[in-house]
Amino acid sequence: MNTIFNINNLVRANVAKLKPYSSARDEYTSNGSKMVFLDANENPFENGVNRYPDPQQRNLKQRLGEVKGISTENILLGNGSDEVLDLIYRAFCEPGEDNIISLPPTYGMYQVLADINNIESREVFLTENFQPNVPEIFKKVDKNTKLIFLCSPNNPTGNSFQKDIIFKILNNFKGIVVIDEAYIDFSKEESWSKMLKDFPNLIVTQTLSKAYGMAGIRLGICYASEEIIRILNRIKPPYNVNELTQRKAYKRLENINEVNLEISDILNERDKLCKVLLQVKFISKIYESDANFLLVKVDDANLRYKQLLEKGVVIRNRTNQPLCENTLRFTVGAREENTALIDALKSL
Ligand SMILES: *Cc1c(COP(=O)(O)O)cnc(C)c1O
Repeated sequence: MNTIFNINNLVRANVAKLKPYSSARDEYTSNGSKMVFLDANENPFENGVNRYPDPQQRNLKQRLGEVKGISTENILLGNGSDEVLDLIYRAFCEPGEDNIISLPPTYGMYQVLADINNIESREVFLTENFQPNVPEIFKKVDKNTKLIFLCSPNNPTGNSFQKDIIFKILNNFKGIVVIDEAYIDFSKEESWSKMLKDFPNLIVTQTLSKAYGMAGIRLGICYASEEIIRILNRIKPPYNVNELTQRKAYKRLENINEVNLEISDILNERDKLCKVLLQVKFISKIYESDANFLLVKVDDANLRYKQLLEKGVVIRNRTNQPLCENTLRFTVGAREENTALIDALKSL
């Protein structure tokens, strides 16, 4: 339990005092009875999308809440997790004053969003086995450190962070710990969203872009205390999740069995791919993965990357990331795609 946390010390003054935009759909919400809607200057001729979407995405949140076992007051949805992460910066970090901590090698957006918002980003490299370096993190924390980003399972390394390490950070940091769980549905670990009641300083983000197979519709998810969700709601664009996305996502969440089958298929493919990659002579190491991709060490990443491109296979070269010299990241694809990758690798 973190008892040193006080949300009022963290939220930006302008955010605390602003009056949120009130949309037509905020001011009157249908209670099911038939009404004549002449309040939003919409075109009345039905085409499926002529009305504004629900700004609070009530149906979708309801469904998602049931699937994930989380109450809707603890959920905020965004136009991809990238929008959710941006809202977190804008709610809590004063430009030119505050700072955040991220742990490279990790997802590049934390840094980019810090730069866009004019927030100082402090980097603390992961340890040799890709775990957060707790003493070094706390050396970098000062009174203006608002956020620490933990990506678990981490991109591009693929591993999950140890529970005891995450607990240490959650228990001792006065700011907000953001745990990015973009890959949690592939993971053996349980989601940290189950711990919201114990940690008022915890934000968990997820996405439908990876395991749920919906990168194209842009739906990001944020789980946090009701207090934090209320603050983020004050600054989110009123109609940030469009009608088509809400409908598509809702349907997908009605077919969880299908999602789960795809996940187990991908995990099977990952384990098969692992075994075959071990036989490729220029691959010296395959890192433990708790996600739908594999990080591998090769003899010369730039060369192998180029050669694979020539064979028509596009992967990610991570050699310029700290601790990732001569590594490549392979997304686990469908069986034929993985076979194409293996054939290409073996022909080099
Ligand atoms: C892919 C990915 C995301 C997804 O972002 P969306 O905007 O929801 O598509 C978020 N975090 C990490 C670490 C990722 O790898």
